[in-house]
Amino acid sequence: MNTMERFEKLENPSHYKFEKVACYLCDKEDDEFLLHGEEDLTGKEGNFQYVTCSSCGLAYQNPRVSMEQIKDFYDSEYIAHRKKKDWGVLTPLYERAMTKHDRDKEKLVSKYVSLNKDSKVLDVGCAVGSFLLYVKDKHACHISGVDFKEDLAFPRFNEIDFHCGLFYEQKNLEENSYDLITMWHYLEHCYDPMSSLEKAKKILKPKGRLVVEVPRLDSLSYKIFKDKWPGVQAPQHTVMFDKDHFIAMAEKAGFKVSTYLPYGAFPPYFYLFAGSYFKLFGKGMDLDKIVAPYFMGQLLMKPFLLFEKKLNLAMQTLILERKD
Ligand SMILES: [Zn+2]
Repeated sequence: MNTMERFEKLENPSHYKFEKVACYLCDKEDDEFLLHGEEDLTGKEGNFQYVTCSSCGLAYQNPRVSMEQIKDFYDSEYIAHRKKKDWGVLTPLYERAMTKHDRDKEKLVSKYVSLNKDSKVLDVGCAVGSFLLYVKDKHACHISGVDFKEDLAFPRFNEIDFHCGLFYEQKNLEENSYDLITMWHYLEHCYDPMSSLEKAKKILKPKGRLVVEVPRLDSLSYKIFKDKWPGVQAPQHTVMFDKDHFIAMAEKAGFKVSTYLPYGAFPPYFYLFAGSYFKLFGKGMDLDKIVAPYFMGQLLMKPFLLFEKKLNLAMQTLILERKD
């Protein structure tokens, strides 16, 4: 059975539009079945298929949801675009967790790039821009962001030099001009990851750095949860990277690996919690109900999580420099 024959056996709403894709890394068309994914986070309808390329082994969604339709899966409930919530006494905990995420991103990049008031920083897939604003407050640098999501009205959003649309189609980003470009959980959502990396290379300064964090397929959490691994996040995730394919794609796009990290700024605990939840209760997570057990579990797992950077739990990050 080929890719499409296998896929047609899955049930999907008739109005969903799918398109077959070639491998994002080697462009070949032959693949083998890997797993079925569902929209576990919000519980939306649909059965999605992930394959591995028969030639190079890259794991990706095939067929994928059409570009016009995928926007419907990024609704206001999507966690990265989430606005203020009211959970009573737990609200400050939630807010601290969100600010901590931005702090951790800044801490990570500061090890590799020294930022100052002349630095230009671009965040690809910037959502509401809280990371950029945090970096600006700390280093007074120039901040730019790209996101395909419109209407990102949020306090201080007007301080960001914002470009709406697909990153690799942007015409107004100056070449050789950014000191730091970040892609926090962007590349695995991208419909053309190779073009995104090539675009980043073009606009990066010769001595600039590109920092890319994605979920790691060859991680402990994937081994535990398999098709319920939160890193599947179907249908938004178009591609799933293990360490080798992540590096191979970056190198093919013209980068040299400066550092590889078996962790990121994103808390791996979220994957352990969400994966357990999806295994136990199936898809559709009610954030209002899970917020208390979430923080309770985090407290209980604290001794284990102290070693999270060494345990290859869920994430990986590449610090990249231009090859030429
Ligand atoms: Zn391939």
